Amino acid sequence: MRTFDDDDTNHLFILERAGFGALIEALSDAEYEVIAPTIRDGAIIYDAIISEVDLPSGWADDQQAGRYKLKRRNDEALFGYAVGPHSWKKYLHPPEQLLWRAKKKEGGFDIHAAPIDTRKRAFLGVRACEIAAIEIQDRVFLRGPHIDEAYRARRENTLIIAVNCGDPAATCFCVSMSTGPAVRSGYDIAITEIISEDRHHFVIDAAGDAGRTVLKHLPLRPAGKKGLQAAEAVTAHAQQQMKRSLDTDGLQALLQNNADHPQWDNVASRCLSCTNCTAVCPTCFCTTVEDHTDLSGENAERVQHWDSCFSGSFSELGGAPVRRSTKSRYRQWMTHKLSTWIDQFGTSGCVGCGRCIAWCPAGIDITEEAAAIRKGANS
Ligand code: SF4
Ligand code: SF4
Repeated sequence: MRTFDDDDTNHLFILERAGFGALIEALSDAEYEVIAPTIRDGAIIYDAIISEVDLPSGWADDQQAGRYKLKRRNDEALFGYAVGPHSWKKYLHPPEQLLWRAKKKEGGFDIHAAPIDTRKRAFLGVRACEIAAIEIQDRVFLRGPHIDEAYRARRENTLIIAVNCGDPAATCFCVSMSTGPAVRSGYDIAITEIISEDRHHFVIDAAGDAGRTVLKHLPLRPAGKKGLQAAEAVTAHAQQQMKRSLDTDGLQALLQNNADHPQWDNVASRCLSCTNCTAVCPTCFCTTVEDHTDLSGENAERVQHWDSCFSGSFSELGGAPVRRSTKSRYRQWMTHKLSTWIDQFGTSGCVGCGRCIAWCPAGIDITEEAAAIRKGANS
């Protein structure tokens, strides 16, 4: 067993279950819109909540390739499930956003940039793989040659309250991607939920000033070394439970050297090019723009919305798509995600959240496809 000194634990506190509602109240009092897991249409999704009653208490998820189902737990855990179809990119990089509006004037147009959203939001229940995904999108939108100012404003106004995973889904493989199940950085507050026969409580880790300011209002007491050990046992258990894996050894070169592998035809015979995998993926960031004018011809606007490398129009060049076949689109997506993303941004584009596996209607599994390419591959 690990030993700890006081420095390991002086930022750790215990919050009993009865006091959890005070966290949401403190966030609201600090003028954060609280976004958290809640249930809609038979799935756990992210939405604005008013109180702890809106959280999916006592629910778990059953996820397999092409399958997602909620089921009851035998306790009242608030965070006893893994990730659902939504990710936080829905808020930080929204599916649709107005870029500008234009009004005709003598000899041209007046163009007005869309107002930037500066609402304060608290994301409650962010998993370790999701923090890794946010860090990947930060690299894309904030650390490249072109800064996305709207993303920056949303990111700077977001408080991240992470939750350590205790029960991974069968589709999760964050251990292979070194992104979970324990949160290590990138959060303001981290929570570990602990339930025993006679007690339900949380170990709370206050990482930064913004988080500590909120926690000042809560009925906390020091967690000490015992609290830290209990929290670490939760994520150690989650790690042991994780059955799915992806062998990343040499994967970057493997995919780039095997563009003609017969497995690409095999997966293309199953893939529907439906774009689900890119919509649910927390790191996919591609967009397109549409311009609209009204019937008077006086007003126009440009709207950005998510696009997908699986859509026919995505690679259109000179009036025809460069990637005409499903085979070329799937190969592009998986090779970018697991290989050329590393060339481009220095990390994999996959955090092992498993969403693309559960929400693919054909049950296509990125870990199985990568393993199949490895068989009989060119080195
Ligand atoms: S891999 Fe699955 S989710 Fe992705 S486009 Fe093909 S059928 Fe749709
Ligand atoms: S590729 Fe699939 S498993 Fe990887 S981050 Fe995207 S949705 Fe999650």
